Amino acid sequence: MKDYTIICDDQKITFSLTRKKVKNVNLRVKADSTVVVSANKSVPYDFVEELVRDKATWIIKNLARVDEKKLLNMESKYITGEIISFLGDNYKLRVFQTDRREKVVLDGMNIAFFVKYSEAIERKQALLREWYNDQATIEFNKSLERTYPLVERFGIEKPTIKIRTMKTRWGSCSWKRGKITINTELIKKARECIDYVLLHELAHFKFHKHDAAFYGFLSALMPEWQVRRQLLKKETGAND
Ligand SMILES: [Zn+2]
Repeated sequence: MKDYTIICDDQKITFSLTRKKVKNVNLRVKADSTVVVSANKSVPYDFVEELVRDKATWIIKNLARVDEKKLLNMESKYITGEIISFLGDNYKLRVFQTDRREKVVLDGMNIAFFVKYSEAIERKQALLREWYNDQATIEFNKSLERTYPLVERFGIEKPTIKIRTMKTRWGSCSWKRGKITINTELIKKARECIDYVLLHELAHFKFHKHDAAFYGFLSALMPEWQVRRQLLKKETGAND
């Protein structure tokens, strides 16, 4: 077995090549993020490399999926290097010790934790929850400013937004009370997903049930809503 590293579209791909009695060439991405190629002795290396290049997009996509799975299974200790999702992007967590006020700060592609005791997991967890809540309040209200104008002319009153953590849904609508409840977890998703959830709930002020009229209305306002819903479903199992 021998390791090779090639560059495809600015992405480095390392693969192990094993010579085996296989028909031609087999390629797979393993759960430990390694790319393994088995090839018959008669297949020249150039042919193998060409195949890896052809499959580069598929390989990179699968490597990303493996990484994602690993992250989901990992118990978070809130230490430097961990990944934090925010508005559809992955940020790197960084921990700094401070004797001043404890806080969480967004800094480029990093989310910096300033804490008195860098080992205090529960404290860091609470700080992140607080930060997510603050960001959710800001972002969901911004989303309402973007989506409400789409429904205003249908005589829908501008609702207020309540934020809370929910296990099985992204949002809910109390049309009688003029209130929309949005799952705090939605702050981890891209703005286009947030807008989709907001508009979905706004549409419920006019059509309460998930019937054809509801979906017709939603499609007229946001023709590509299904693409956004697909994006939203990618990593979690919650419903709208
Ligand atoms: Zn609904």
